[in-house]
Amino acid sequence: MHTRLVILGSTGSIGRSALEVVTALRPRVRVVGLAARQHWRRLAAQVRAFGVPAVALADQTHERELREACPRGTRIYLGQQGLVDLVRQADADLVLAGIVGVAGLPAILAAVERGSDVGLANKESLVVAGTILLPLARQRGARLIPVDSEHSAIFQALQAGRPQEVRRIYLTASGGPFRTWSPQRIAQASIQEALAHPTWSMGPKVTIDSATMMNKALEIIEAHHLFQVAPEQIEVLIHPESIVHSMVEFCDGSIIAQLGMPDMRTPIQYAITYPERLPGLARPLSWSAIRTLHFEPPDPQRFPSLQLGYEAARRGGTCGAVLNAANEAAVECFRSGEIPFGRIAELAAQALRRHQTIPEPTLEELMEADASARREVRECIRVGTC
Ligand code: MG
Repeated sequence: MHTRLVILGSTGSIGRSALEVVTALRPRVRVVGLAARQHWRRLAAQVRAFGVPAVALADQTHERELREACPRGTRIYLGQQGLVDLVRQADADLVLAGIVGVAGLPAILAAVERGSDVGLANKESLVVAGTILLPLARQRGARLIPVDSEHSAIFQALQAGRPQEVRRIYLTASGGPFRTWSPQRIAQASIQEALAHPTWSMGPKVTIDSATMMNKALEIIEAHHLFQVAPEQIEVLIHPESIVHSMVEFCDGSIIAQLGMPDMRTPIQYAITYPERLPGLARPLSWSAIRTLHFEPPDPQRFPSLQLGYEAARRGGTCGAVLNAANEAAVECFRSGEIPFGRIAELAAQALRRHQTIPEPTLEELMEADASARREVRECIRVGTC
């Protein structure tokens, strides 16, 4: 198991859950580095509580406050480059990537480059740069261990067979808060309604992505890269109880599923202790309370985003980056009240439709595809022509 952790995004939802896991696993596991974007006060409190020797803060404007709040001798790295420097110098055997969005990518690449295993809660890095990350990890002997609950489930289920024996992957989805709403009503959903997830407690961006099911679209691309399966081998199943976290069907027809209470601490802990298992923090499943589990195919009318995940995975190259960036930009505009909920998927679809795929992009080309997709979405909203 891993014993020296760097947690990127330690003040966010994943980071805080990870520190709860660390608390339970101490002293076998210790934290050698923490990174956050702007919440310096909470970051400093974590540094003190966990005796962390090194810390990175992306937002440099709070340098002085952070220095004063941390114990003397704490190594402090600043800015986007600070995250990369922290990863390079902290000597972690697992870098837990819980930063939302593409902002975490340079630090993840730095971790893989130095051969550290990476616990990937950040799906965007695989969606955007899977074609670069996977070969690099293989070359450097770094393992990419998924923390996304579905991919952790698939990762665990895959251990029941060999890669060439996999027939299909069932990616389960809760269906979010709008599973039973009409497409017309979904299109006008408010921010509060989109943020009310029925089963999972997560950060705001991924919660909105669950409501559009763009989250699942991105997870199709994530699974495609991580497990080297064709998009056609990935099937999305709506499972409102969020108990079956995903399943793998092998060539003999056997299906292996991973089940448990919806609690991110389980996949986080598994990434830390892999390949071992230790007692976990999640409440055990109570079969007498559950009794029934439901599954249904997703409705493409309600969730047009889903198809975009298949399209981006099939087209490959820069398409994952474009879909992800256009969605991020559109979600920001939805959260600031500039566009209705229904426009998020439309804007993402349009960005993908207009994009000319670069088949084997460099990191620079990926970043450029990302930036231009964001620009286009904002421009589109600003001029209001589409
Ligand atoms: Mg997930």
